[in-house]
Amino acid sequence: MPDLWIDNAPRAAASGATFTTPNPATGEVLAELARGDRADVDLAVASARRAFPPWARTDPNERQRILWKCGEAILANLEALARLETLDTGKPITNARTIDVPRTADTFFYFAGWATKLTGETIPVRGPFLTYTVREPLGVIAAIIPWNFPLLLAARKIAPALAAGNTVVLKPPEEASLSCLELARILAEAGLPPGCLNVVTGHGEEAGAALVAHPDVAKISFTGGTDTGRLIMRNAAATLKRVSLELGGKSPNIVFQDADVKSAAKNAIGAAFYNQGELCTAGTRLLVQRSIHDEVLDIVVSGARAMVPGDPLDPATTMGPLVSEVHHRRVLGYIAQGDAEGARREVGGRHAGSNGCDQGWFVAPTVYSGVTPEMTIAREEIFGPVLSVIPFDDVEDAARIANASEFGLAAGIWTRDITRAHSLAARLQAGTVWINTYNRFDAASPYGGMKQSGFGRENGRAVLDEVTQVKTVWVATS
Ligand code: NAD
Repeated sequence: MPDLWIDNAPRAAASGATFTTPNPATGEVLAELARGDRADVDLAVASARRAFPPWARTDPNERQRILWKCGEAILANLEALARLETLDTGKPITNARTIDVPRTADTFFYFAGWATKLTGETIPVRGPFLTYTVREPLGVIAAIIPWNFPLLLAARKIAPALAAGNTVVLKPPEEASLSCLELARILAEAGLPPGCLNVVTGHGEEAGAALVAHPDVAKISFTGGTDTGRLIMRNAAATLKRVSLELGGKSPNIVFQDADVKSAAKNAIGAAFYNQGELCTAGTRLLVQRSIHDEVLDIVVSGARAMVPGDPLDPATTMGPLVSEVHHRRVLGYIAQGDAEGARREVGGRHAGSNGCDQGWFVAPTVYSGVTPEMTIAREEIFGPVLSVIPFDDVEDAARIANASEFGLAAGIWTRDITRAHSLAARLQAGTVWINTYNRFDAASPYGGMKQSGFGRENGRAVLDEVTQVKTVWVATS
């Protein structure tokens, strides 16, 4: 049974309690996990507090070297990590091998470099003073993540925090904790000192809430649902913790008639259905200029039909099951609502599974036409393979519909008119805008939300402001 990971060693929950994590492709129990609670969080935070001063004082060149070795160790364990990620989340093994694990390693390689490049400024103040700033780490950072990309989302929080000299306690998602535990073991083997990364598995309301309440945690770096984000922000106020929140989305993907229509339509399929649509930036509102609406719809519907969900361990599979029974029910509920509100379901709905995966939680790629911006499926985040196709007339109309959402995570624009592309990009309320492409990410490129999609940035230089604090020093020079 996988235990908690504290001080670079496995450890059972203090209470002895456990919970199970299922295989979403079969419904069978995959593993029993330690159900950490406040007592375990206390131990994990105390360990991270002990590790903090020596880690913060470690020569930045040494931190850089260790983080680079972490990246190499992740690549050396690529196959085992990919397999765990697929078994636990249901994502296709080919994606885990080519995206999740290599990008997790990339994140460590990228932030290794930052350990030696965190500089302050000299400030030209009035009077005879040398005034300068230094960037100091915050202390213990709690990372709380969801189940759709456990490894990659953990890395986005762990690597920059460690590069800047912080230590981390990670609370993985209850649906998919196995790869995070394996990651912690691999990083320890690569040379990360004890206490720099502790992992407490368990439930959000127990282990997660205890981290948010803990007085010795300096910051909560959270990725997950918008409602959970609100609750965490409220609870963090009691100890005046910093929070950064990467939350939900309902991203518009806008196709103009002057675009390379075939390429845009084909791309829209992946934009909506990659990772079973369990992707916060999924382009779930496909806004199509009226004159090309039918052409785009045809391509998207046949693309969805060709994408048959199947055994995620089969390298030919392009779509796996949804992560859990509860989530499966929720997504099917949205499909029932789409039908009831009068949208036209062109393709998709429940999928029975096959090849030994008949008990898995599958939903076929689902495309709705005749969707109006007011319908539930056009407004709420479904977090499954459900795409709404919405026609628009001109750029004003497109901007209005795109921005008429409480979310502001990402957006796509497809056009050959560069003036329109850039002027619309400036108007869209989204943390990331892709032009003639979609779902591009890089450890070097800042990423985060606007509006109810949260605040704070991950990746790139931007995240370093989130994991450090500025100290100003005044020196009298006369
Ligand atoms: P969730 O909010 O239910 O859970 C996320 C994490 O928060 C889990 O580890 C959970 O245990 C923990 N948690 C739950 N209640 C808590 C509490 N009271 N205190 C502390 N921690 C608590 O989200 P989910 O269903 O696992 O994930 C899906 C959501 O994540 C979607 O809304 C999706 O858009 C979002 N997401 C956002 C991004 C992004 O970068 N913006 C990326 C991936 C997923």
